Amino acid sequence: MIIDSNTLNDNFHETADAVIVGSGAGGAPMAYQLAAAGLKVILVEDGKIFDISSFKRNSWKVMRDIYRDAGTVLTIGTPSIPMPIGNALGGTTIINSGTCFRMSEKVFGDWKKQFGLTGLDYTDLIPHFETVEKMISVTDAKPETVGSNNILFAEGAKKLGLHPKPLPRNAPDCKGAGICAFACPNGAKKSMEQSFIPAASEKGAKIITSTRAEKLIIKNGQAAGITGSFLDDNKKRRGKFQIDAKVVILSCGAIYSPYFLLKNKIANSSKQVGKNLHIHPASKVVGVFNETINAWSGIPQGYYVDDYAEEGIMFEGFFLPPSFLSFALPAYGMDLKNLMADYSKMAGFGIMVTDSSHGKVIAGLDKSPMIFYSLNKADTLKFKKGIEIAARVYFAAGAKKVLLPINGLDEINHPDELKILHETEIKPSQLELSAFHPMGTCRMGDNPKTSVVNSFLETHDIKNLVVADASVFPSSLGVNPQVTIMAFSLWAGENIINKLREA
Ligand SMILES: Cc1cc2nc3c(=O)[nH]c(=O)nc-3n(C[C@H](O)[C@H](O)[C@H](O)COP(=O)(O)OP(=O)(O)OC[C@H]3O[C@@H](n4cnc5c(N)ncnc54)[C@H](O)[C@@H]3O)c2cc1C
Ligand code: SF4
Repeated sequence: MIIDSNTLNDNFHETADAVIVGSGAGGAPMAYQLAAAGLKVILVEDGKIFDISSFKRNSWKVMRDIYRDAGTVLTIGTPSIPMPIGNALGGTTIINSGTCFRMSEKVFGDWKKQFGLTGLDYTDLIPHFETVEKMISVTDAKPETVGSNNILFAEGAKKLGLHPKPLPRNAPDCKGAGICAFACPNGAKKSMEQSFIPAASEKGAKIITSTRAEKLIIKNGQAAGITGSFLDDNKKRRGKFQIDAKVVILSCGAIYSPYFLLKNKIANSSKQVGKNLHIHPASKVVGVFNETINAWSGIPQGYYVDDYAEEGIMFEGFFLPPSFLSFALPAYGMDLKNLMADYSKMAGFGIMVTDSSHGKVIAGLDKSPMIFYSLNKADTLKFKKGIEIAARVYFAAGAKKVLLPINGLDEINHPDELKILHETEIKPSQLELSAFHPMGTCRMGDNPKTSVVNSFLETHDIKNLVVADASVFPSSLGVNPQVTIMAFSLWAGENIINKLREA
């Protein structure tokens, strides 16, 4: 059952086996799994439920309504980085690009070495990856829908000896409408509100939207439920609720889960809550061609190149509607007008870095978390290399010029000019970045002095309080995280079911 809290009375009070906070990649699979096991599950979600077709492809309206703080979440540091996150039923998955990777065994092995993770091996995750991929219908992007933007980059990449591949995605009936990041207008993308959430509801979970968890109820040192507020359409508190439960699962994402813990001043004996923030900083290179490409038509993120993944550099397709791309181009006034006249002749590809830089989330004096992050030298060098490779790919594909995301080195008209990248030191402050994958702020590990949750994602400090979302990853993942978040959530859910059955 999916209920808008506006239909519920003030001072709502219920009891459940499990209460889950957040309906994104962490919360939704957990709700499905626990409900399917016969447990009484209530999931609360701060955001609203939306009928995407009512947005009529108005991307600005989507951003205002479905993105947290209308898409203005930013990191403070050098450079300052826009880091959009979702705030709706489905969490950030409703606005994501649909790319679906499993984490690598190598990265998992590094976590084991550094953090222990007793009781968890990569093989334990495999059945959960399989369940996730089935539930959200993962399949490779089809050639007929990837569009010329991806094909063009792939052709250039092949000429340079690279190995472009179609991306695995959770949109089997994708029509290539081109705006995944503004919620799929066709319902083709199997984000949480199109997959695990309805499945959880069918299994009996109660899902309540416009409902913000604020306080953890602790009894005898153990988590025993949550209290919080029902929200009106303007996000103002409208009424209060209490849900008592045997287990509480925080799935508010890597910014809001640590924020909840910090605000409540709990589960932080390690002093690691909010620390170790990784974000997969990303940038993009735009090629301008003589011929028409119409890059907006087709899947924005349809192909990838992972030849440099070992070095922490991934290339994945990207494109934006004109009103958004114009913000991201290195020009103003008449220059921007002239550049945008070539919109139909532009192509774009993204560069995502496995970051060794790390930042932190703090609970400031305001009602929102504050996010601090600065790019280190090693990651800056990864961008320099990735930008050069992407630019060379575009020249190999026939671009007449390439626009770089480097302040002061904005436009390159011939591949020979790229040597300037070797002659010049690029400072982090010159890079134009964005980020879409916050993680790491409640990291897992065996040692309660250096980690927040154990390998079953239960907090070291408070029994029956579980964190299941991107915040538990101890390092930068290296691939888009949603499938791995979902698999870890199912892994933690399995343990919760076993424990409740034994009790
Ligand atoms: C534009 C964009 C494109 C992306 N593309 C991809 C991609 O192609 N592939 C991929 O793997 N990943 C992608 N991602 C990232 C991916 O979607 C996220 O990593 C993932 O959704 C994070 O899952 P989560 O459960 O940690 O948090 P979220 O999915 O953000 O869910 C957290 C939920 O908790 C709710 N919440 C927070 N606080 C409270 C509270 N106090 N009470 C109640 N509810 C609360 C929030 O409203 C939100 O709905 C993309 C992200 C963005 C922004
Ligand atoms: S490309 Fe369009 S149809 Fe395909 S998933 Fe994205 S938004 Fe939906």
